[in-house]
Amino acid sequence: MSDEYDVVIIGAGAAGIAAARTLSAAGLSLLILEANHRIGGRAHTVTCEGWPIDLGCGWLHSADRNPWTVLAGTLGFDVDRSPPPWGHRFLELGFPTSEQHAARAALEAFDGQVLSSQPATDRAADLLRGTQTWLPFLEAYSSYVNGAQLSEMSIADYRAYITADTRTNWRMPQGYGALIEAAGRALPVRLGIAATAIEAHERRLSVLTTAGRIETPRVIITISTGLLASGALRLPCAVDDRIDAAGRLPLGLADKVWFHLDAPDGFEPDTQAIGNPHRTRTGSYQIRPFGRPLIEGFVGGAAARDLEDGDDLADFAILELVGLFGADIKRRLRLATCSRWGRDPFARGAYSHALPGCSGSRAMLAAPWEDRIYFAGEACAPTDYSTAHGAYASGVAAAQLILDRQFGRA
Ligand SMILES: Cc1cc2nc3c(=O)[nH]c(=O)nc-3n(C[C@H](O)[C@H](O)[C@H](O)COP(=O)(O)OP(=O)(O)OC[C@H]3O[C@@H](n4cnc5c(N)ncnc54)[C@H](O)[C@@H]3O)c2cc1C
Repeated sequence: MSDEYDVVIIGAGAAGIAAARTLSAAGLSLLILEANHRIGGRAHTVTCEGWPIDLGCGWLHSADRNPWTVLAGTLGFDVDRSPPPWGHRFLELGFPTSEQHAARAALEAFDGQVLSSQPATDRAADLLRGTQTWLPFLEAYSSYVNGAQLSEMSIADYRAYITADTRTNWRMPQGYGALIEAAGRALPVRLGIAATAIEAHERRLSVLTTAGRIETPRVIITISTGLLASGALRLPCAVDDRIDAAGRLPLGLADKVWFHLDAPDGFEPDTQAIGNPHRTRTGSYQIRPFGRPLIEGFVGGAAARDLEDGDDLADFAILELVGLFGADIKRRLRLATCSRWGRDPFARGAYSHALPGCSGSRAMLAAPWEDRIYFAGEACAPTDYSTAHGAYASGVAAAQLILDRQFGRA
């Protein structure tokens, strides 16, 4: 491999692609190393009987200020701006409207406490005192949005997210993963080549890979915090504090299971159901997204971790769907595919959360070392962490720092 790149980027997910687009537009030479045989990382659209379905990110969160919304327009992708079904179109099945209102009030009260309180601790579960009836619901909700239980969550970190979130959520009929892949298509990516170590010498860095060594003045590392903390990429001791920071920003887990739904006519399009709102270990189901003959099941946290074996997630979802819609649905469901992000060797989880007391770790991880080793990725985003647009912004920020500091281009 040539050693004449201004920047080597490790990882072709949303962050790596955003960094590469920024540097390439500024005329720098670069190479992206991608261990997987596809680009996109935790953004991945596949097709089920011709329908695009997302196994990773699906929603353009904060869509009215999300850079991927703008890129969707540039790259010819449609954006569906109809409001999401959650919150206003939960099916009545096992979840009467009065209970839905009460559950939503509990969630709003919880968010209100996160925003207003100056708690003695930084542990989100400590805000639950006094909440009884809707505690499992709040924990299930946390398992979807954080991939983790509230006892593992920093209040300050969560506050930063919900303060910045605009609550506008759109989606793309052709798939979020397909958009991110399209954004990376023209970039110089080497697929199937993993970086294994970075060695620092006086004036340059050596990137050791599964296909040889590359010399470069600077790198941007975008691999997940799960991988960083595991030591999958050996780094100079000087950045041990960044690795420690990654360990305090572990990945929660969320998985999706997709079914094709035969004879879908009796099922109202674009509705949402929850397996059992009185349980933490339960799935959230999107019924016929975009009116398609599909159902998406979504399970997070410890439940997702337990269900990554074999067909366990599909069996669990079928059982819950039978509980909601009756036994007849079973013969109409055909498993399309499901994710196993916890076992994915290129991710090791879904998205990051800060442990109690550790919200400052995001800034620690994002701090470059000697203007040579830069970090990006969703976990580096101060407020939009855990999302594809946070990953994008972190990639642009790292690229912009390089341009400002080393090429004098603000
Ligand atoms: C089930 C699920 C649902 C989600 N839903 C949403 C949603 O609705 N909206 C939203 O905004 N976000 C969502 N997300 C989160 C979003 O997908 C991620 O935050 C975002 O894609 C992360 O991008 P990244 O570039 O930081 O990391 P990644 O996408 O993980 O990219 C890192 C890349 O590095 C590569 N890599 C790893 N190790 C090496 C190595 N040693 N050498 C070279 N390459 C390496 C990986 O293969 C990967 O391609 C969801 C995620 C999951 C899993």
